[in-house]
Amino acid sequence: MASQRVIVVGAGIVGIASALQLRLAGCEVTLIDRGEPAMETSYGNAGAFAVSDVIPLAEPGVLRKVPGWMLDPLGPLALRWRYLPTLAPWLARFVAASRPRKVAELTQALAVLLNRVNDDYAPLIERAGLNHMWRRHGALTLYRDEAEFDAAQAAWDDKHRHGVTWRKAVNGEVRQLEPALRDEWRCAVKVPAWSHVDDPYTFSRGLFDAFIREGGRFVRDEAREVALLQGKTQGVDTVNSGRLAGDAVVIACGIWSDRFTRQLRYRVPLESERGYHVTLPKAGVALHHFIQCASESFVILPMGSGGLRLAGTVELAHRDAPPDWRRAHILIDKARQIVGDVDTTDMSVWMGNRPSVPDTVPIIGPAPGVDGLYFATGHGHLGLTLAATTGALLADMIRPRPGDFDVSPYRINRF
Ligand SMILES: Cc1cc2nc3c(=O)[nH]c(=O)nc-3n(C[C@H](O)[C@H](O)[C@H](O)COP(=O)(O)OP(=O)(O)OC[C@H]3O[C@@H](n4cnc5c(N)ncnc54)[C@H](O)[C@@H]3O)c2cc1C
Repeated sequence: MASQRVIVVGAGIVGIASALQLRLAGCEVTLIDRGEPAMETSYGNAGAFAVSDVIPLAEPGVLRKVPGWMLDPLGPLALRWRYLPTLAPWLARFVAASRPRKVAELTQALAVLLNRVNDDYAPLIERAGLNHMWRRHGALTLYRDEAEFDAAQAAWDDKHRHGVTWRKAVNGEVRQLEPALRDEWRCAVKVPAWSHVDDPYTFSRGLFDAFIREGGRFVRDEAREVALLQGKTQGVDTVNSGRLAGDAVVIACGIWSDRFTRQLRYRVPLESERGYHVTLPKAGVALHHFIQCASESFVILPMGSGGLRLAGTVELAHRDAPPDWRRAHILIDKARQIVGDVDTTDMSVWMGNRPSVPDTVPIIGPAPGVDGLYFATGHGHLGLTLAATTGALLADMIRPRPGDFDVSPYRINRF
């Protein structure tokens, strides 16, 4: 089969992993970014391969908690009220996605992707020589007591039905798994298949370096629009490098993908669920597992350097609105409730734009009616987790291989 020239626009983790998968599948691949690779949302995420997150965000349990969360401006979910009129259509779709039948359908679509994450990542990580930073120790989701866990048990049972293996630990067993936790956390759920990387930026750069080593090309430029002729993709028109010719184009621009969905006149509801992190390089707390706090909706990543990253919460606001750094700082107080005192020497804060669609399921696949154009966006909270799988699916679509994977749940024209 003749080698195909593929242009991947956007060198976040989704674009990088897709470019590498396509290169390994034999395509001639050019990756474009207006900045350095992995410097946007993929820079500061929490580093988790969150394979148990099969239930979409819009589920009735979450919706019930929303009013309480909204009363606290520093709580797990905040909304910039001035942005509400713009956000309203997205929110309406979010609520529509919470109907039980819809939740069941979306859960199935997510589970199919999440169940193959480790298999899709393993060869990329091996090829990139990054095994040393892939920590396959599992995650612990913490509950103060069994009553708090009981309220979440139905969701865990549902996850189990969708292929997630987990087990509950109580009291001394929790302490045995993670001695640094404070005593009031008496119950935890361990998901053994969950894994994390020491630092998502270093990891993403490692995959990027592997892409270059394998013969991929990187162009630092801004893509203006997809070049089209009679319904067929010709390549990408850039601001400084003219037209980059290609037989296929993949749009992987995260929250900025709307420029291209608008060009093609798709009505894709893509909004930013902004999230914050605090990195504590000298935290002085040794953790083995990735830690999730269910009630506060934030996580703790044990970083390779011996530090900790605290990350999470959702802020619904325009992607360019100024950050509210109080939302990052509050994570330190929340972490102290879990692991006791932490050293904040040399701490840094960061904010990123999760590219989110209201039904949580990413958009992966061809643009109907345009030959050679593909989208890989809308990964929301799961961009790092699903990047290798997204790339593997794109490679199967662009270099067609026999298979029976149903890509219809991820199509762009479902909205
Ligand atoms: C606090 C926080 C914690 C998170 N934790 C996790 C986690 O633990 N696990 C997980 O799986 N996910 C997590 N996420 C989500 C994850 O970070 C995102 O889903 C992921 O980074 C999105 O990757 P992306 O490649 O789609 O977008 P980005 O990383 O934003 O990359 C898009 C790229 O496109 C480029 N671009 C845009 N427009 C153009 C253009 N016109 N021309 C050229 N280049 C362009 C940008 O410069 C950018 O480099 C977290 C997010 C946040 C905010």
